[in-house]
Amino acid sequence: MAHTCDFCGRQADGDVLPLTWSFAVENGRTRIYCDQCTRTNARSIEGRLDSDWW
Ligand SMILES: [Zn+2]
Repeated sequence: MAHTCDFCGRQADGDVLPLTWSFAVENGRTRIYCDQCTRTNARSIEGRLDSDWW
């Protein structure tokens, strides 16, 4: 099963989420972010989990 970045749509092969990727649970939904989006949005992800304004 591949993982897809919920922000940019990039995909990662393999069953395990790459260490550089991250995920967050927002409003009961699991969101996965690739390494690039994690870096770009690190402050938003760590700050507030509400990403509706994206
Ligand atoms: Zn991404």
